[in-house]
Amino acid sequence: MDPFTYTSLQGRIVFGFGTLARVPAEVEALGGKRTLVLCDRYHEDRAGARLRDHLGGLVAGFSSEAAMHTPVAVTERVMRQLSSVDADCLVALGGGSTIGLSKALALRTDLPQIVIPTTYAGSEATPILGETTSDRKATQRSPKVLPEVVVYDVELTLALPPLLSAVSGMNAIAHGVEALYAKDANPITSLLAERGIAALGGALPLIVKNPHDRAGRADALFGAWACGNCLGTVGMALHHKLCHVLGGSFDLPHAETHTVVLPHAAAFNTAGAPKALARAARALRVEQAAQGLFDLAAALGAPTSLKALGMQETDLDRAAETAVSAPYWNPRPIDRGAIRVLLDDAYHGRRPQA
Ligand code: NAD
Repeated sequence: MDPFTYTSLQGRIVFGFGTLARVPAEVEALGGKRTLVLCDRYHEDRAGARLRDHLGGLVAGFSSEAAMHTPVAVTERVMRQLSSVDADCLVALGGGSTIGLSKALALRTDLPQIVIPTTYAGSEATPILGETTSDRKATQRSPKVLPEVVVYDVELTLALPPLLSAVSGMNAIAHGVEALYAKDANPITSLLAERGIAALGGALPLIVKNPHDRAGRADALFGAWACGNCLGTVGMALHHKLCHVLGGSFDLPHAETHTVVLPHAAAFNTAGAPKALARAARALRVEQAAQGLFDLAAALGAPTSLKALGMQETDLDRAAETAVSAPYWNPRPIDRGAIRVLLDDAYHGRRPQA
C-alpha cells in the first residue's frame, strides 16, 4: 500500500424502501421543531406533499421554488421566508437543484439539513455548493453545506423517467471515473468509486428496461451515494471542467452534458492514467472504459453528441478556449488543440477509438 491522505465526510445515512416515514424521527433526533420543507414544483403535489403529511406539526414553512443551478435570487426569497417562520431545521426532497437550495440556506444560517435525494446527481454527499447570479456560476466548498442526514427512499426514484435516470446515472458515474485518477486519489475513495460505477453500470440497463425494477433502483441509488461521496472527497479533473464550461457558458443541460462528454474525457485521459481507467473498465465489465461508457450511454438511449443537446458547432472554438484558460489539474496535460479535437468528437458523437 502506498502512502495516502484521506479526509472522511461526516454524515448519517438512512437507506431503504419507505424511509420517508422515518424523516420525522430524524428531525427530532437533530432537535428540530420547526422545519422548512423544500422541494421543486414537480414534487410539490407528490412526494413533497407526502413528506409534509409525515412531518405534521413539525412543519413551520414550505417552499417549492427550488430551481436549476441554485439562483441566488431564489435563495434570498426563501431566506426571508425562513426567517419569518423562524425555522430551526431544513428538510429538502428532490434532485440536485432542491438540495442546492437547501445547501445555500445552510451556508447562510448553519441550520442542520436532512435531504432526501430523488435523482442520482450525488450533491447530498458533498460539501460543494454551486450558485448562480444572472451572469455567472460560482462554486465553493464549505463544511456548512454538507447535509447532516441523508434519507434515501428508493420508492421515490421509481417514478424517475428512464431517460432522466440514464443521464442522471451517467452524471454519477462521471464522479466515480474522475475520482479514480484524481490528483488526491486514495485507496478508500477509489474503492467507493469502483463499487459505485459497478452498481450504476449494472443497474441502469435494468432500470431503462423496467423503471420499477426495485433491485436495480436500489443499486443505482447506492451507486449515486458512493460516486457522490467520491466527488465530495477528492478533486475532479478535465471532465468536470468541460461540463462546467459547457453548462455555464453555453447553457447545456447538466446531466446530459456529463453523459456526452464522459467517454471522450475518459479516452483523453487513458494515456495519462491507464491504471485508473482500467479499474473503471473492470467496474463496467468492459475491455476499455471510454468505449464502454459510450456504448452504455447509447444502449440506455441517452444522448451521445453535443449536437443533439443543441450546441452550435461555431461555439466549439470558444469552449476550447474557455476550458484551457483556467484549467483544473488533469492526469494528462491539456492544450487547446487537443481539447478542440475532443470537443469535435463529442459534438459529432463519435465512438472513442481503442
Ligand atoms: P434537478 O434537481 O433539477 O432534477 C432534474 C429534473 O428531474 C427536474 O425537473 C426534477 O423535477 C425532476 N425529478 C427529480 N426527481 C424526480 C423523480 N424522482 N421523479 C421524477 N422527476 C424527478 O437536477 P439533478 O440532475 O438532480 O441535479 C443537477 C443540479 O445539481 C445541477 O444544478 C448541478 O450543478 C447540481 N449538482 C451539485 C452537486 C454538488 O455537489 N454541489 C453535485 C451534483 C449536481
